[in-house]
Amino acid sequence: MGTGVKAYWQNFINGKWVDGSTAGRIAVDNPATGEIIAEVAEATEDDVNSAVAAARACYVSRALARITPAQRLQMMMRVAAYLRSHSEELAPIVVMDTGKRIRDARGEVEMAARYFEYYGGAADKLEGTSIPLGDGFINYTVHCPFGVSAQIVPWNYPLIIAARSVSAAFATGNATVVKVPELAPLSVYALAEACAAAGFPPGAVNIICGYGQTAGAALAGHRDVNQLVFTGSVQTGQAILHSAAERVVPCVMELGGKSAGVVFPDADIKDVLDSARAGIFQHAGQVCSAMSRLVVHESRYDEVVSSVAEMAESLRIGAGIDDHDITPVISAGQLDRVEGYCLGAVQQGAVAVTGGRRAGNRDGYFMPPTVIADVTAGMTIANEEVFGPVLAILKYDTPEQAIAIANGTDYGLAAGVFTRDVARSHWAAAALEAGQVYVNQWHAGGVETPFGGMKKSGFGREKGQEALMNYVQTKSVTLRVG
Ligand code: NAD
Repeated sequence: MGTGVKAYWQNFINGKWVDGSTAGRIAVDNPATGEIIAEVAEATEDDVNSAVAAARACYVSRALARITPAQRLQMMMRVAAYLRSHSEELAPIVVMDTGKRIRDARGEVEMAARYFEYYGGAADKLEGTSIPLGDGFINYTVHCPFGVSAQIVPWNYPLIIAARSVSAAFATGNATVVKVPELAPLSVYALAEACAAAGFPPGAVNIICGYGQTAGAALAGHRDVNQLVFTGSVQTGQAILHSAAERVVPCVMELGGKSAGVVFPDADIKDVLDSARAGIFQHAGQVCSAMSRLVVHESRYDEVVSSVAEMAESLRIGAGIDDHDITPVISAGQLDRVEGYCLGAVQQGAVAVTGGRRAGNRDGYFMPPTVIADVTAGMTIANEEVFGPVLAILKYDTPEQAIAIANGTDYGLAAGVFTRDVARSHWAAAALEAGQVYVNQWHAGGVETPFGGMKKSGFGREKGQEALMNYVQTKSVTLRVG
């Protein structure tokens, strides 16, 4: 170990740091080196039960209800300030946990802070309505919390994803249990410290780390969980939905993607290159809304393929702590998976213009930026989520064909349009089946813009004001006064 990271981390239940109920520990490695950097207490079903019981007790005691919306706002601002003031300690932990660049890790801490500011600012503005019913009656509606909100978090942006759910849940008066990802659990523990420092009551936020099949499944199936937010793969989302259906628990599903950018003949190549850099090569492409496909008009195809490949070859591969452009993927298993997709694409007739094989002579899990051309719509690489720095480039003839290719997968998370023609960008944005459409850029938007999927990319929205409605249920009260 000896990396400056604390060697052993406990779970945070009912306002206290506690060991797991068994002696089990989960080893966490640094994706840039493969070295074990820390161990965390493994949460199993008993620990999930304790965390849910603590959240339930906090909710039922009305400890949360007694905090006025104005106080809630102030507490959440304190969480934001705490995260910001600890950014320089926290960002390197994010890097060692997830592998991403230090500048993106700082961005992750900042965005986590922004969620608490944004939803803190909404805590005292969750107004109901009064519906006119005529003489003799008064009606009003109230936004009620669900009670215990469970969050199951993936490893690519664990701090941001936990922060966006915990902040919205707390703003609306819910208690939370967060199951952090076993591959990258460390940064989310800072949320526990921040919430405790900000005066959240014990049990309001519980943070545990366990394996998906055990702790995750126990949390998703727990009878005292009243609402569930899951961010992760489609397959896991389906398992969680089955379990939630048994108890009729509302869910938000933020799942994967195979998002396409459509390049029209009049596109500015600079926009396409900047978007590829940010959209598929940043964080080694391990982004749910990654631009993993480009669908390019035949008149620009060769130019786009050669320009993107040239740009990819200029990127520096190395550890995130040194702010390299291409950082490692999360694990040895993920590296095998990503490389397997590239080899499979070549077997199916595509061409790896650059990359396509793991970077040799390195201890960590490095996959070079990969550009795969001559991809056709039926190929596996055109349909399945790789979750690596791999861009598949397809060709089209007519605009309708471009939209059909872009919409032709099971996913519908993000899509992009590259054109200088405003009318065409609106036409395409309307036709693309995706929760977010980016025009002449990729990934712009922040905590303010609703985010979520269509089709198998999920349902419900996180971020933005709309997301708050996932955490409340409306009660209509009608009085006879005449
Ligand atoms: P994953 O589905 O394997 O795991 C996500 C979380 O679910 C982890 O905490 C895991 O422990 C837990 N889990 C696994 N099996 C479980 C089970 N049976 N019951 C309950 N919980 C279980 O996903 P991942 O590999 O961690 O993350 C990558 C996936 O997440 C990609 O598909 C990516 O697109 C998606 N993702 C989506 C968004 C979004 O906002 N739409 C954001 C980030 C990641």
